[in-house]
Amino acid sequence: MTRVGVNGYGTIGKRVADAVAAQPDMELVGVTKASPNYGAEAAIRRGYDLYAAIDDRVDEFETAGLTPSGTLDDLLRAVDVIVDCAPSGIGARNRAIYASHDTPAIYQGGEDADVADASFNARASGDVGDADSLRVVSCNSTGLSRLLAPLDEAYGVEKARVTLVRRGGDPSETDRGPINDVVPDPATVPSHHGPDVNTVLPNVAVDTAALKAPVTAMHTHSVNVTLETEPSTATVRRLLGDETRLFLIPEVANIDGAGALKDYAADVGRPRGDLWENCVWEESISVQGRDLYLFQNVHQEADVVPENIDAIRALTTDIPREESVALTNETLGIGL
Ligand code: NAD
Repeated sequence: MTRVGVNGYGTIGKRVADAVAAQPDMELVGVTKASPNYGAEAAIRRGYDLYAAIDDRVDEFETAGLTPSGTLDDLLRAVDVIVDCAPSGIGARNRAIYASHDTPAIYQGGEDADVADASFNARASGDVGDADSLRVVSCNSTGLSRLLAPLDEAYGVEKARVTLVRRGGDPSETDRGPINDVVPDPATVPSHHGPDVNTVLPNVAVDTAALKAPVTAMHTHSVNVTLETEPSTATVRRLLGDETRLFLIPEVANIDGAGALKDYAADVGRPRGDLWENCVWEESISVQGRDLYLFQNVHQEADVVPENIDAIRALTTDIPREESVALTNETLGIGL
């Protein structure tokens, strides 16, 4: 049983915590919050042991009636691995604390690649060897890596060009934007997403350009991949359809966007309406000569969650990658 702690019970952390709790080979020891807000109250309500992420805030939790089980140091003493889900940039600051406890750590994609010994995606990255820390690549990079890895294996990717229309903020982030525009972000091309994909797929040429839109539900990717061979459209649809973490949205479902996708996820009983898989419009997959085109949506709050579970196993056990992925898929119910 791997004892796991989650440092930062926010958008990603609360989902990783639930996923850890669902694994037969993992124990969720506890989660941390920086302040005693609704998330902290909900963690306790869900039965999770709550710790204060910042030592001198214990009083704040007590005043709010949410007495914590201890501080981050106490949590680190009780776990085999810590999953850092703190806001972007804070993970790098937490690194020294984890090192002082000799605790292996998983970081998220908001951190620079050099925060960890290796970057990770269960489908795309190779053996992590004896790494003591891993960084799960960002939501967009996770979505692109899952797509480009099988395409490169089957047909060879000469060059991928992707336009990412990113959500302005997560549903709970009222301070994000834009609220009435679609803006290049960054305005420089290519964006940093391609190089991030290359931290797990170093040999795949991929250029990305990114915009931000006034939506909160999902990112949308417009993908064009020049392949080294000329597969038929039907063959590519079959290849992608066989990938467990790619959901090919059937035309008959009449799902035209993120709203219907999230509605469907909620209808089929997904927790929080989460979509762990890339959602690829099947009829958009088309091959013209060596050029493949498709549209996919990525649920930014959810797609990295199974990757974190596989990263925990990669870091702390000898369980083969395929076995880990199969177990994660089965326990979470991945595969629409
Ligand atoms: P968030 O703001 O929703 O949650 C962060 C949590 O960390 C909060 O609960 C906060 O209480 C806590 N926290 C604050 N200061 C802390 C500290 N010093 N130590 C520990 N915890 C602290 O953030 P998020 O969206 O979950 O993002 C977490 C990481 O995941 C970032 O690296 C981000 O880039 C990455 N990520 C986010 C998304 C997304 O769409 N939200 C997708 C993929 C990856």
